[in-house]
Amino acid sequence: MELKDLYRDVILDHNRQPRNFGRLDPADATADGHNPLCGDRLTVSLRLTGDKITDIRFEGKGCAISTASASLMSEAVKGRDRAAVRELFNHIHALLTQVDAPVDESLGKLAALSGVREFPSRVKCASLCWHTLNAALEQGGTISTEAGNESSSEVLR
Ligand code: ZN
Repeated sequence: MELKDLYRDVILDHNRQPRNFGRLDPADATADGHNPLCGDRLTVSLRLTGDKITDIRFEGKGCAISTASASLMSEAVKGRDRAAVRELFNHIHALLTQVDAPVDESLGKLAALSGVREFPSRVKCASLCWHTLNAALEQGGTISTEAGNESSSEVLR
């Protein structure tokens, strides 16, 4: 399948039917993310066993790309430990931001996110959930993709 078609199909599918949508209560870790450029907001909640993500939910309101990206992420990180999540995050970040980054077969449906790099203004929509997941794994709290308009514990570049 052409990457372009994969991108469209996967984003549409996961936006229409987000996987793992909702909130874990109680949760072992949560974080909120906000992308003021687009208006995307989401909350990621996790259940952890030791170092491993045993369950994940996300909720919020955002554009199709932010919702689909969070849905894809939730499927991809369940059952992974912190080191594996970090590795996957680095991989996705390269995929989103480097035009010539190779698209690895092992990424499965996540490879569809590489379509976002054709639209630089949407990269933050796609990466918001990953930054929010990182924040939940680090210390919880609120992250924003922009400085100055959020009581953020971390500002993303
Ligand atoms: Zn967005």
